[in-house]
Amino acid sequence: VFAGIAQAPEDPILGVTVAFNKDPNPNKVNLGVGAYRTEEGKPLVLNVVRRAEQMLINDPTRYKEYLPITGLAEFNKLSAKLIFGADSPAILENRVATVQCLSGTGSLRVGGEFLARHYHEHTVYIPQPTWGNHPKVFTLAGLKDVRYYRYYDPATRGLDFKGLLEDLGSAPNGAIVLIHACAHNPTGVDPTLDQWEQIRQLMRSKSLLPFFDSAYQGFASGSLDKDAQSVRMFVADGGELLMAQSYAKNMGMYGERVGALSIVCRSADVASRVESQLKLVIRPMYSSPPLHGPSVVATILKDSEMFKEWTVELKAMADRIISMRQQLFDALKARGTPGDWSHIIKQIGMFTFTGLTSEQVAFMRQEYHIYMTSDGRISMAGLNAKNVPILADAIHAAVTQ
Ligand code: PMP
Repeated sequence: VFAGIAQAPEDPILGVTVAFNKDPNPNKVNLGVGAYRTEEGKPLVLNVVRRAEQMLINDPTRYKEYLPITGLAEFNKLSAKLIFGADSPAILENRVATVQCLSGTGSLRVGGEFLARHYHEHTVYIPQPTWGNHPKVFTLAGLKDVRYYRYYDPATRGLDFKGLLEDLGSAPNGAIVLIHACAHNPTGVDPTLDQWEQIRQLMRSKSLLPFFDSAYQGFASGSLDKDAQSVRMFVADGGELLMAQSYAKNMGMYGERVGALSIVCRSADVASRVESQLKLVIRPMYSSPPLHGPSVVATILKDSEMFKEWTVELKAMADRIISMRQQLFDALKARGTPGDWSHIIKQIGMFTFTGLTSEQVAFMRQEYHIYMTSDGRISMAGLNAKNVPILADAIHAAVTQ
């Protein structure tokens, strides 16, 4: 019965790793994957995560019972506190409905399905460009009208602020707007605080509903609070919003799929009804979420000493990436590579949007065995002192060929 089925294309991001794994060249470099690597090019399990896991394993009172549909209650509370701030009025007034979800993607999907069922407007605006999964997640969640708002200006390799304001300004009242809380993927370009404030005013004046995607809190600047500033500005005005949170990058919990969806409401009563409806979205989808990941995260977040250790390890990851930006910039300068490469040090977070064309990307894969997505996005976390010179040689050759 399945004989006629067509071969589906590889995922544009995960497909880079598939191609990389097939390449027998020993000097190959994978800059496609959005996961942290150490200076030695190895994946990293944070020390504090190992410690928390050990504590959980040694605790004889812990069972493998099902979690409730909404997940681990303690984890949900701590997650809302982490992103909105401990003294957030929305938390103090019990106006936040938080449910544990399958990492950032699952949070976006559950939030999307909730909106498709209960929100009057099904138009979602996403930035141009954005993480490739966004349009698919929302369309399949039932929000069929996905539109783009201008975000990145290739000429300046910075924010197209005027275009952004124009596009959101002409969006229908009430439309949903997907916003990267910090470290925009793939461009590494974020609005300034002043620009965030203008975006907030415009959005609130048109009742546009913010749906924040926070996949990099603490990973961008090294400070959890700084990376949450955009979100907290929108919470401070008392209005509604959705928040999809991921612990994949900032706690290195990638494969454990730990995340949370929070919906900030106008009153505790509304939040409680929203939560009851979220349960109806989740129950037929996967019944209840996994136990291990959120137990680890909650163990760390609730203990001040472990929390401190986490922030130190998190900052070390962020700082290593920032130093790779400088090293790559310096290496291109030293080679006299044509062009202005200052965007490498200006952009923030895990990725640099190099501005390389898809032909140049293909050339670098062919000639230098360097793998990245065809839009020229490189994961800075995959760089180290050993492969920066190789990458700089490859970029130099690609732009001067
Ligand atoms: N949003 C953005 C912007 C991302 O970059 C990512 C991860 N690449 C995610 C969401 C989702 O990640 P996860 O589902 O692994 O938490």
